[in-house]
Order: sequence, then C-alpha cells, then structure tokens
Amino acid sequence: MSGPGSDAEVAAWVRGLGLSGLVDVHVHFLPERVQERVWAYFDDAERRYGRAWPIHYRSSEAERLAALRGLGVVGFAPLVYPHKPGMAEWLTSWVLDFAARVPEAVPTATLFPEPSVARYLGAALAAGARCVKAHVQVGGYDPRDPLLAPAWGLLAEAGVPVVVHCGHGPLRGAHTGLAVFEEVLRAHPRLVVVLAHAGMPELSGALDLAERHPGVHLDTTMVGVGFTLGDAPLPADWTARLADVADRVVLGTDFPSIPYDYATQLRAIADWARAPELGEPFLRAVLHDNPARLLALGERQRETNTTR
Ligand SMILES: [Zn+2]
Repeated sequence: MSGPGSDAEVAAWVRGLGLSGLVDVHVHFLPERVQERVWAYFDDAERRYGRAWPIHYRSSEAERLAALRGLGVVGFAPLVYPHKPGMAEWLTSWVLDFAARVPEAVPTATLFPEPSVARYLGAALAAGARCVKAHVQVGGYDPRDPLLAPAWGLLAEAGVPVVVHCGHGPLRGAHTGLAVFEEVLRAHPRLVVVLAHAGMPELSGALDLAERHPGVHLDTTMVGVGFTLGDAPLPADWTARLADVADRVVLGTDFPSIPYDYATQLRAIADWARAPELGEPFLRAVLHDNPARLLALGERQRETNTTR
C-alpha cells in the first residue's frame, strides 16, 4: 500500500488500513512565547545547520490542534524540554495543564539534572504523566549525571516511557551518542525508552540497542524522509531489522516544527512497509497499536472507571 499523497488524504488512508486513527508519540506544543523563540531558532537554521528549515505548521495553537484532528490523530504526546536549569518544572506544569484541556493529548513531563528533579518528576507522575521527554542535545547535559539517577529510577519503576533525544542529529552535543545513553540503560535495565528519531544518524546503532534492551523503542520522527536521507541514509538491512522489533517501532513526527507536511512522514513509513516482511500489519502496529499501548491510551480511562 502506498502512502497518502497529501495531508488531505491522510484520514481516509488511515481508515483504509482499518485503524480508528493515528497515535503520535512525538509532537511538540509549548507556551506561546517559548514556541515563538523555538521558531525563531529554526528561522536561523541556514546558519546553525547549514540548511533552511521552514516550519510547515506555523500557526496558532488552535489551528495546529485542528490540523492534527484533520489528520485523524486520536492520541499524541505533547513534548516539552528545557535548555537550562529551573525550566523543566514550569514546562511540565504547563504541559500537564495543556493535556487537561486537550482530549487527544496525553499528560507528559520533562526533566533536567538538578536537585529538584525527583520532586517535580514524582509529582508529575502522581498527577498522571504517562510520557516524559529528555533532550540531551538541547539540554547540553550528560544523561549519566548522578543528579538524574533518581529520575531514571522513578521512571523505570513506574514503567513510564521516556522519549530521549540522545542521537548526534541534527547537531552533535557534548553528551550525545547512543553509547553514552546505553550506560543509563545498563544502570536502569527496566527503563522504557523511546529513541527519538530512531537514534539518527545512528540508525543501525539504535536497532542494536533495541536488540540488547527489551525496553527500547524507536520513533520514526524525521526518519527516511527526503530532508534527512542525505545525512542519515537507511541501512541496507533496515526493513529486515525493523521486522525483528516491529512491536517496538512507534509513530513520531515532530509536528509542527517540520520542514514538510505530515503526509511525507507517513509515506516514508508506508515505503518501508512495502517490504514483504513488514506489510500492512506493520503499518497498523506503528501508526496506532504500538504507540497506543506505550502511552496507555484507553487503559487510563478503564482504570478511572473501575476506581470510581
Ligand atoms: Zn522533537
């Protein structure tokens, strides 16, 4: 099955797969002023990354939510992340509030190596956060920082997934690289991790990590699209190896700050699924079933119902 030709075709394409909708583990919403600053950063992409990065969905929060609904996204993790100390706690309270007013949004949290992290992360988990974002490159921190050990421990114990941007793309950080993050996994073997961008550009390395650690998932964010294929080509054995971890590959997109439309990401994934070892079952798993399980969609409602 080939992918949707444009965003307008996405919802029908998803229904054609027999799915009730898409579940996206890697979406960004931010307080308006922070969002403006992030977009200003991308406006400067030519100088920072050596190439332009025109934001495809640069519009009001209401318009972006309408766009997601139009695409048939029935659940998503709105991810926030700090670039300095003292920011993670208020970003987390903002995003918990956002999730409380947006029905499709799963409550999330973020973290930073600072003495207060166990306190505010523990409070966020108690408040229902079901997904956490850690951005090693933007945060400029070492994920092995002893200040983070209690945070990883809390997440491992709660079984709450953490979407970790620890790859070298699009820019190397002081502590990026899968080898560094694997040390965190060794220290916290039960940690449920989603490697953002499937570890780009270390795609084979991400598959290796998933093979060695059963809690490791890969998200599809910006993988296999024309914009990144030059810097992060797919390994020759990509689809064969995806088949081995097909229950741990999840849809992610980086909506709204992507330099192409949403359908482009879905076409890339649909292209992989053309391999006979993947096929439509892979699409259904990646676009809905795996991320829905990871974000405990549905379960939470059942729990609330039974505890009432
Ligand atoms: Zn992202």
